[in-house]
Amino acid sequence: METFLRAAPLVVAGLLTPLMGMLSISTDWNNFKKKMQKEILWHNRSWEEVVKKLDSNIEQGLSGEEVKIRQEKWGKNILPQEKPFSNLKLLGEQFKSPLIYILALAGIIVLAFGQFTDAIVIFGAVFLNTIVGYLQEKKASKALSALKKVVTIQAYVLRDGNTKIVDSAALVSGDIILLKVGSKVPADSRIITAENLKTNEMALTGEWLPARKVANVIDKEIPLADRDNIVFMGTIVEEGSGKAVVVATGLKTQIGQIAQIVKETKEEKTPLQKKLSRLASITAVIIVIASLAIFVGGVIAGRSLLEMFMVAVAVSVAAIPEGLPIAMTVILALGMQRILKRKGLVRKLLAAETLGSTSIIATDKTLTLTEGKMRVSDIITGGEMLDQTQGDHVSALRITAFANEAFIENPEETMKKWQVRGRATDKALLLAAIEAGINKKKLDEQFPQIAELPFDANRKYLASLRSAGKGRQVLYLSGAPERVLALSQFVAIGKKKRKLTARSRKKIETTLEELTRKGLRIVGVGYRNVRTQASSAAALESLCNDLIFVGFIALRDPLRKGVKEAMEICRRAGMRPIIITGDHRLTALSVAREVGFDIQEKHVLEGKDMDQMTDKEFAEIVDDIHVYARMEPRHKMRIIDAWQDRGEVVAMTGDGINDAPALKKADIGIALGSGTEVAKEVSDLVLLDDNFDVIVAAVEEGRSIIDNIRKVITYLLSNSFTETILIGASLFLGLPLPITAAQILWINIIEDGLPDIALAFEPKEKDIMKRKPEGHKISLLTREMKTLIFIIGIVTDILLLGLLIWLFKYTDYDIAHIRSVIFAALAVNSLFYAFSCRSLRRNIWKINPFSNKFLIFAWIFGIAMLLIALYVPLFQTLLKTVPLTIFDWQLVVGLGIVGLVLVEATKFLFIVRKFKP
Ligand code: ADP
Ligand code: MG
Repeated sequence: METFLRAAPLVVAGLLTPLMGMLSISTDWNNFKKKMQKEILWHNRSWEEVVKKLDSNIEQGLSGEEVKIRQEKWGKNILPQEKPFSNLKLLGEQFKSPLIYILALAGIIVLAFGQFTDAIVIFGAVFLNTIVGYLQEKKASKALSALKKVVTIQAYVLRDGNTKIVDSAALVSGDIILLKVGSKVPADSRIITAENLKTNEMALTGEWLPARKVANVIDKEIPLADRDNIVFMGTIVEEGSGKAVVVATGLKTQIGQIAQIVKETKEEKTPLQKKLSRLASITAVIIVIASLAIFVGGVIAGRSLLEMFMVAVAVSVAAIPEGLPIAMTVILALGMQRILKRKGLVRKLLAAETLGSTSIIATDKTLTLTEGKMRVSDIITGGEMLDQTQGDHVSALRITAFANEAFIENPEETMKKWQVRGRATDKALLLAAIEAGINKKKLDEQFPQIAELPFDANRKYLASLRSAGKGRQVLYLSGAPERVLALSQFVAIGKKKRKLTARSRKKIETTLEELTRKGLRIVGVGYRNVRTQASSAAALESLCNDLIFVGFIALRDPLRKGVKEAMEICRRAGMRPIIITGDHRLTALSVAREVGFDIQEKHVLEGKDMDQMTDKEFAEIVDDIHVYARMEPRHKMRIIDAWQDRGEVVAMTGDGINDAPALKKADIGIALGSGTEVAKEVSDLVLLDDNFDVIVAAVEEGRSIIDNIRKVITYLLSNSFTETILIGASLFLGLPLPITAAQILWINIIEDGLPDIALAFEPKEKDIMKRKPEGHKISLLTREMKTLIFIIGIVTDILLLGLLIWLFKYTDYDIAHIRSVIFAALAVNSLFYAFSCRSLRRNIWKINPFSNKFLIFAWIFGIAMLLIALYVPLFQTLLKTVPLTIFDWQLVVGLGIVGLVLVEATKFLFIVRKFKP
């Protein structure tokens, strides 16, 4: 009964925490409902009305000044990052640990026995562990949520009459926005025009089928999910394009209102974390059995029940590696921050550790390996290829000026000052046209666009249908040269057109091959006159045939600096780089050779050849293929499959909307920072500057994460092992208990708590990128670790037991004094072997002793706390310690040094030699 009463405050505190959480949620609900009632029903008005009501203009958009005024009035278009973090809840979480249960139970029983000093120590330990866990986790989750803020969404917006790309945070109600495939809807907006527009509203409604969007007025009563004339912030444009007017921003958007009531989503456990909890439970079971044995053995040997109970509890506490989850969170958060510093954004905790075991890196060519700063270097027309006549380069460039997705941000300026925005290829082509004196603005006015077919990685071309006056229409097309050639029936020679014969085709193909061999990226251009009236993108595609082929435009895209070195590091680290590109076979081969691939033409596979193979046939040759050319996004899936079947861990880059399935399927999906929102959404890692380098850097950090987790585990398990054996063995030898429960708690929580976190900060080992990747079979407890834990435990225990026996036989120390010496020796030993755990495969004299400042600090702190435990009267009473003599200290320190030397010597004999090259 008494125990129950004593436990009551704990129980009350435990119940209170979730209750408070529920209360705060219900007030959020009420605010939310109130807000909903005041809402204007935009879907129930025509778009003209909406635009008028918001004082906007669909030709001009808002003016810069107006935007400033509105921004001041309504604030930025952003959502608060997650639910403001609840301190109370996090504190409550700390109580949900077996250690705390065991300790609290022990404390209560000890109190019931009237052992006040011991109870104080135990409750002190509970308190401390909670506070430390709380602080660490708070720091880590702050760091993680800061990471999530880094990606910004870009929006196409009409302002002062021009299209601009702005950070979506800068949008205000009334802004006219353009919606493009693969982008995220930046704010809740009412549709003005929609061209086959479909959005995925999974983020909002949970429905994964895309919703078709239209401009019609919709009934008042229609529920949110069916308001088809509104696009919602955070949803994704899956198909088509459109124009819309922003009606709500930031917290006023649907997702913003939900964000206020929904708690943050829980990050799923990573495989290593899962393995870790398994390891922890296995250890826990072993420990419970061991302490039961110790308890029963001790009682049979005639010791007091209370004493044995205290010891058994202390052994369990000592042996459960409870510091692990905290250290794990610290290591992962720290690793993600380090990767961010190197321009990689890890989107899932899981990825940070998987990265370390990556064995295949499949990368795009354009942008990851090349700078993406393309320039037109050659233009060669049909006439030049066939007739040696002077080519009409301007007409080739005119086609790319027509069929082009880049746009001019400031068309009101003179041509010289034009700023072109868009994808690298489009931009380079448009710039070349402008340089040749083609006035895109005038062209667009003279030949208004009727419909367009955007570039698509499957189709590999884009097209624009223009009105040429008097009811005439012309289709302009630009894209992968073989595609354009295949769609052509004629070739333009000067102002005339001529039928494309087999011979002339052959000649053109030969020229193409010469160009691609130089590593140039080639675009083919063509056009045709259209009689039938077409106005939609779908109808447009059926018109793309019977073209008049005009010529090739060659683009030079310089290689990024450092790619060759990064490839080299990659290979040294046992990983295999693969290039996958939509580009031409020979262009790809030439670029691959430039970045250091030592390969022949037979090592390049084209998409159309892959299509001819069965999965089995492909699996047989996959090892010989280093470069994949003229690939479509779907081919990426087969490549991942083939490698994963071989047990490899595959990292794959992608940028387009079609890459999403492959990014999901890969063990590590990597999106380019310049890629579509969809690609980023499903990826594990985002390359903020598109650079291949970053992948290699991220792998390096990933390996360091795994390394450090192992170091912490080794340290913690060594402690557990040593202490359990020490107590067990002395009982077995008929000796009195060498150390009290309170003293063990002091060592585990005060002395070793900091070193274990300090090991999380251990700098990367030099050879980290020279080891072989571990792949899927990666295990938490390696052979070296087991050896090291065993060595440390045995060496320390032999020394300590020897000391114990010697103290009993040859000194007249009383039991309190003997325990104080053993206590100090155990503490000093564990502080010493923390240094041994800094590397699992190298001796400590090979490591700069000062390179981990945290460990030095933890060490000084540990020594200081040991002195406090031994010399401050209050702690002498609590821990039942007595001051040590100078001689005792000599023994303790001497033993610590001998222990360290023995551990390192055995480490050298059993582990280090194995890793010698
Ligand atoms: P990758 O991203 O691997 O370089 P893409 O799928 O982007 O490959 O491009 C494949 C081919 O399509 C290019 O070699 C080029 O011929 C053509 N292409 C790509 N982008 C454009 C564009 N914006 N306009 C015209 N043609 C393009
Ligand atoms: Mg591309």
